[in-house]
Amino acid sequence: MTLAIGVDIGGTKVAAGVVDEDGRILAKLRRSTPAASPRRTEQAIADAVTELLGQHQVTAIGLGAAGFVDRARATMLFAPNLAWRDEPLKQRVEERLGREVVVENDANASAWAEARFGAARGYRDVMLVALGTGIGAGILIGGELYRGRWGIAGEPGHIRVVPDGRLCGCGNRGCWEQYCSGNALVAEAREFARRTPEGAIRLLQLGGGGPEGISGPVITQAATEGDPAALRCFQTIGGWLGQGLADLAAILDPACFVIGGGVSEAGDLLLDPARAAFERALTGRGHRPLAEIKVAQLGEDAGIVGAADLARVGRQTAPSQTAPSQTASSQTTAPSSPSSGPSGPGPDGSFIRSTSMANPVTNAATAKKAAIPDTVQPAAVATTR
Ligand SMILES: [Zn+2]
Repeated sequence: MTLAIGVDIGGTKVAAGVVDEDGRILAKLRRSTPAASPRRTEQAIADAVTELLGQHQVTAIGLGAAGFVDRARATMLFAPNLAWRDEPLKQRVEERLGREVVVENDANASAWAEARFGAARGYRDVMLVALGTGIGAGILIGGELYRGRWGIAGEPGHIRVVPDGRLCGCGNRGCWEQYCSGNALVAEAREFARRTPEGAIRLLQLGGGGPEGISGPVITQAATEGDPAALRCFQTIGGWLGQGLADLAAILDPACFVIGGGVSEAGDLLLDPARAAFERALTGRGHRPLAEIKVAQLGEDAGIVGAADLARVGRQTAPSQTAPSQTASSQTTAPSSPSSGPSGPGPDGSFIRSTSMANPVTNAATAKKAAIPDTVQPAAVATTR
C-alpha cells in the first residue's frame, strides 16, 4: 500500500492529508493562508507537508489549487481568490521541500476523486460542477481528465447565460455563476428578505435578525425545515443549475454530473429542481438516455484525495516505477499525445511540437496516463432515470 500527500489550497486555508490507494485519509491538518502573500502561502503548504512527512512514508505529493494551472502542472497562471499570477508554484514548493510535487486545479482534483472513490465511481464520462463562491468544474472524458490545450478547460461558471445580466468578478456580465452558486443562493435569499421580510421570518430568525446574517447554512437549515422562502431559493438556483447542465450535456454528453460544493449539502432540495429543469431543457428529451445528476460524496476532502491520487498515479505510470497496483492506469490506450492537437502551426505561427515544448508535453503525457477503469456500463446506468 503506497501513500501520497494531497494538499487543497483555497483562498483562506490549506488542508493537507495523507491518502492511501483506496482514497482513505489517514491523517489530516489545516493551516490558514494569507491569501495576499504567495510566499507565505507557499511556506504554509511546505510546513503542512513537512509535518505529514515526519509521520508517514509517501511516494508522491500533489497540490490542488483554486485557479488556472498550466498544462505542465507547474505554474499557477491566474487565481481569482489568491495573489498568484504566473506563479511557478511547483518550483517554489519543491525548493522548500526538496521533493517533487505535482500541481493540479482543485476542481480537476475533486472530479478525479469523485470518479475514483466517490459519487461517480465507475463512470468514465463525468463532469463535476462544484457550487461555492463561484462554480468550479472538472471534466473526465473516457476516464481521463480533460485539460484542454492550455490546461484550463472546464470553467463553465463564466458561460454567459443572461445578456447584459449581473456583473461578474471576471469583468463580464450575465455569467452562469452569478445565478447558480453559493453566493447566488445567498444573494437571492437576502434580496427576498429585504423585499418581503414578512415572508422571510424563519430565514431572518436563523440569520440573527438582518438580511446580512442569512448565509448558505441558514438557507439550507430553513429549507430542511420546510420553510417556503428557503425552498423557493433552492428552486431558483436549482433551475439555473439544471438549465446549465443541459447546455453542458449538449456539448459533452456525460453519463454523470456530480454536484459538489457547499450548496450541494442541501442534497435533493437542490437536485430535484435541477433534475426537473435539466429534463425540460435537454435537447432530444425522450429520445436519449438522461445523465445521472448526483450529489458529491467526498465533501471537502475531495481536493485532498484527488490531488494525492493524481500525483501517485502519475508516478506509478512512469516507466521506471514498479507500481504495486496499476488499476488506475492500465486501461489507458489513447496513443495520441494530449498536446499534439492540430498538426499545423499554432496560433502564434509556431509548430506545436517545437523543442521548447518538450518539457510540458512530457509532463502532460505522464498526467494523461491516469485513467478511470471502465467498471460500469455508463449507458445502462444512464437509462435508469
Ligand atoms: Zn464571469
